[in-house]
Amino acid sequence: MIELNEVTKVYPGGVTALGGVSLRIDRGELVAIVGPSGSGKSTMLNVLGTLDRPTSGAVRIDRYDVARLSDSGLSALRATRIGFVFQQFHLASGRRALDNVADGLLYSGLRSSVRRKRAATALERVGLGHRMDHEPHELSGGERQRVAVARAVAGEPAVLLADEPTGALDSASGAGVMELLRDLHAGGTTVVVITHDRDIAAALPRQVRMRDGLILEEGI
Ligand code: ADP
Ligand code: MG
Repeated sequence: MIELNEVTKVYPGGVTALGGVSLRIDRGELVAIVGPSGSGKSTMLNVLGTLDRPTSGAVRIDRYDVARLSDSGLSALRATRIGFVFQQFHLASGRRALDNVADGLLYSGLRSSVRRKRAATALERVGLGHRMDHEPHELSGGERQRVAVARAVAGEPAVLLADEPTGALDSASGAGVMELLRDLHAGGTTVVVITHDRDIAAALPRQVRMRDGLILEEGI
């Protein structure tokens, strides 16, 4: 499903955020990437999700060699195969939950009525059927993150990448979001959760530990 081979990422200015990492994530896995702040987790997510290109090394998503795809080819790959969830939700304020989720399907080629229908189904799936007309400021943090998860999965991506999805939530809401991610995984989605929280990581079936831009070892 996803393969990194000896991937490095050196940012302009000279910070080596990934020092040569190899990782394979198979279809249907639920994986935690865990490590302290600054260990390169978000960089890894950006590379896994084709939001950023590595400095060297190979990235394959669904057998596509990312280096061989143009920027528009990458955008298409992302739009159809990858869903993203971020710590800070990244919802559009002043747009109701339904529109926030439907907007995630703008580049799907689907008609707007179909996009809205899919968005409604995704919101029901995350338990927010009764909050579709609410704007982000009318939702709790946990509900906002559920909207973001609905947006990420509305297009039925092959893989869901979540960067510190519980980082801005209280522990009860965070546990709810983790349960939701587990449900999605049980339904067949490949899920990668990035976290600095070892307890969250320990509760998942596979842990990839990072430190100083390297994968330390698997398991906690
Ligand atoms: P984490 O998500 O584990 O906290 P990051 O991947 O965000 O780690 O960062 C890894 C290292 O790369 C850090 O030292 C950070 O300061 C640096 N870094 C992250 N993004 C950039 C950037 N855009 N430009 C320069 N350095 C960056
Ligand atoms: Mg980070």
